[in-house]
Amino acid sequence: NKQVILKDYVSGFPKESDMYIKTSGSTINLKLPQGSSGILVKNLFLSCDPYLRLRMRKIEDTDELFQSFNPGSPLSGYGVAKVLDSGHPDFKQGDLVWGIVGWEEYSLITQPTTLFKIHHNDHVPLSYYTGILGMPGMTAYAGFYEVCSPKKGEYVFISAASGAVGQLVGQFAKLMGCYVVGSAGSKEKVDLLKKNLGFDEAFNYKEEQDLNAALKRYFPKGIDIYFENVGGKMLDAVILNMRVHGRIAVCGMVSQYNLQEPEGVHNLMSIVYKRVRIQGFVVFDYYHLYDKFLDLVLPYIRQGKISYVEDISQGLESAPAALVGLFSGHNVGKQVVRLTTS
Ligand code: NDP
Repeated sequence: NKQVILKDYVSGFPKESDMYIKTSGSTINLKLPQGSSGILVKNLFLSCDPYLRLRMRKIEDTDELFQSFNPGSPLSGYGVAKVLDSGHPDFKQGDLVWGIVGWEEYSLITQPTTLFKIHHNDHVPLSYYTGILGMPGMTAYAGFYEVCSPKKGEYVFISAASGAVGQLVGQFAKLMGCYVVGSAGSKEKVDLLKKNLGFDEAFNYKEEQDLNAALKRYFPKGIDIYFENVGGKMLDAVILNMRVHGRIAVCGMVSQYNLQEPEGVHNLMSIVYKRVRIQGFVVFDYYHLYDKFLDLVLPYIRQGKISYVEDISQGLESAPAALVGLFSGHNVGKQVVRLTTS
């Protein structure tokens, strides 16, 4: 069983060398022992998600949402897998599943609290269950429809807009009849947003000297909804440009994950003047809506009303580089690692 092991706690930007591949010498037993209640799976796809960086820190505060990974042990995260053997009544051999697995070829899952059976894989790639039909898709859905209270005609801004979550939020907002602008970190991504994903406008935030001026250019009347993925300077500029009764859904702040000290936000009084609602949310609280989400999004995919861009790297050995690449914007679309297709 090959595994991706975390060497030690990480500070600063993560590097490929913070992880290594370990191959265990003994052959894996593909049958569970009699009486086991676990689920043995073969992992097909692994999902690279920014929050994994947060788990690479030493986390002492028990109030935090995440626990640290253990140095010397494999990482874990979302993936798509096939059940090889199961002693659990809800899962059987041959089932396809998505949920939390180890960063390894085979995982033994003892507590399937976040493991969903895949019922629909006709006309949709299985890798979609790491993205549009999995956790990032649910995040976009819950964040946009449940947290942003969107209305037709509103002005919507999304940061990290070409990523796993952002590209879907933008398409949901367009389907609702909103005016949608995204920011991203390269010309290729900006073109993708405008030409392939139907955004009204997009800009490369790395080329803007003054983010406030850039936002004023795209939103002369201000922003009703900001879907926050990056934090830091972008959030500060957005606050100044919110409209009265605007909403900010705080999904994540990827620009802050590698900093020792978070960057300050200066413009907080504008939240008062403009009666802006800022709400954080966590996708785990919304998994009860998963079937409702699939009912909405599967037809959109099949009808070609929503498309989804993936960036797939090949083999477990490529996983450390793929994960680290999220923090320099190397990924174009949802970053997935394909382990095998069988
Ligand atoms: P992405 O697929 O968007 O990948 C991360 C992207 O972030 C990179 O491609 C890069 O794009 C951008 N980025 C990296 N560093 C910076 C930086 N310093 N400043 C600005 N942008 C940066 O990731 P996801 O779509 O999976 O996640 C988006 C956000 O949603 C993250 O903050 C994540 O933590 C959060 N999240 C929250 C969840 C929740 O339950 N609340 C669940 C899932 C995700 P670019 O080239 O444009 O810079």
